Amino acid sequence: MRQLIIDGVQLSGSKTLVVRDKFTLEPYAEVGMADAAMVDRAVTAAARVFAAGTIAPNRRYEILQEAAMLLARRKDAVVGDMVAETGFTMGDCENEFSRCLQTLRLSAEEARRIVGEMVPVASAPGQDPLRLAFTVRAPVGVVAAITPFNAPLNTVAHKIAPALAAGNSVVLKPASYTPLSALHLCEVLHEAGLPAGWLNIVAGSGAEVGQALLEDQRIRYYTFTGSTDVGRTLQNHAGLRRTQLELGNISPVLVCEDADLELAASRCTGASFRKAGQVCTSVQRIYVDQRVRDAFSDLLVAKSAALSVGDPRAKGAFVGPMISTGEAARAAGWIDEAVAAGARPLLLGERERAVVGPTILTDVKDDMRIVCEELFGPAVVLIPYRDLDWAVHHANATEFGLAAGIFTQDIGRILRLIPRMDMGSVHINDTSSSRVDLMPYGGIKASGFGQEGPKYAIRDMTEERLITLSPGGQPHVADRREALP
Ligand code: NAP
Repeated sequence: MRQLIIDGVQLSGSKTLVVRDKFTLEPYAEVGMADAAMVDRAVTAAARVFAAGTIAPNRRYEILQEAAMLLARRKDAVVGDMVAETGFTMGDCENEFSRCLQTLRLSAEEARRIVGEMVPVASAPGQDPLRLAFTVRAPVGVVAAITPFNAPLNTVAHKIAPALAAGNSVVLKPASYTPLSALHLCEVLHEAGLPAGWLNIVAGSGAEVGQALLEDQRIRYYTFTGSTDVGRTLQNHAGLRRTQLELGNISPVLVCEDADLELAASRCTGASFRKAGQVCTSVQRIYVDQRVRDAFSDLLVAKSAALSVGDPRAKGAFVGPMISTGEAARAAGWIDEAVAAGARPLLLGERERAVVGPTILTDVKDDMRIVCEELFGPAVVLIPYRDLDWAVHHANATEFGLAAGIFTQDIGRILRLIPRMDMGSVHINDTSSSRVDLMPYGGIKASGFGQEGPKYAIRDMTEERLITLSPGGQPHVADRREALP
């Protein structure tokens, strides 16, 4: 049984969470499950240590660096657990593992670079010229991190490492499907010397553990990645407290007539079907210029049909199972529903238990769920356009705004398109799914607000406070030259 960590102590929890292997569907591991009382204990510990003092920035740096080194030593165990608990392929899990090491190291470095700025107060009319003003960045306090199943290690790292680097204490609730990777991360941080109470992990259901976190007023900041529905609930509870919300999207990519079609098709194949399409920036809608539709479509279909589907541990596997048979049935249902309403399959993946093969549909209509709702599964729609303005309008015409990709060689067109894309990020000659962990990363509209990327998350998770220094006594003589002989 894997144990929770509250106030530095490993605990079994009040109930047991059974983590299933998402491909075999067999029980894989057991994890202690928290309840509302344990959430209270975790928040009490986090609030107590934060009130009692701070961990010096250089020590935060050392702990995060050491944690990265200790995690690297656990690679086989962590990747093995991640493949089992997510169903993601070995390749996807190894990639996420390497990225997590970067996230820890970037956060460590940023812990030593937290600065405010000088404010030129003396330049204001009537001010004493000796007066100084500057800002300092202070940690916010107890941070609650609530994370999804689809990046169970690196998204957790993107929440807790910047929070700790900023000097906050943390209570983490990982997704119930995938608590094992998060536990590894918490364990190595403690092994690396993180003192008791600064990081507490409470696995358990969103309804009980998540809800208890939302109701606890001692929490000063929520960092959340997950669905827009839960994000809305969280924001309603947060009130005047600050939040960082990384929510859903229906990611579009534009493929223009001058695009490098081979590049565009390769990147779109990867970004549509990686992690079985369960990525918030997965390509779900491809708008392709009518003039290159057939050439692009042939490439996309050929590349997608060649992907190896099924057992995530098989050599070369690209598309593993979805997170559950229920989610697979839902995704397959949306595909069937679209086909019944007139969509034409260019590639139709079969479903077997939790595995859904890559699917590409065209001749779709705007009101089909596969077009206008987030699928979070391995299917993409191909929508030809004659007029680029029409394509831009449709790419933007959802409630979301996380990320988009554009493939074109035309610099003038690129510069004209950039300000018209209502997205948190736009990737030219890459897909919506392009990401490097040091980048600022976040959405607009119903995709949320606040940013990941350690430097940017630390800015979000600290408060800027103003300090002014006046010499006191008589106002300083403005021009000392008069007193000179
Ligand atoms: P989810 O169902 O919203 O769950 C996310 C987390 O919230 C889980 O830990 C979940 O706990 C918890 N939760 C559920 N109900 C709660 C409540 N009432 N109060 C507090 N916490 C609650 O999302 P998911 O299915 O795991 O992930 C898929 C979604 O995440 C997609 O919409 C995707 O686009 C989005 N996502 C966005 C980004 C981004 O960067 N923008 C990145 C990745 C994923 P349980 O696991 O116990 O239910």
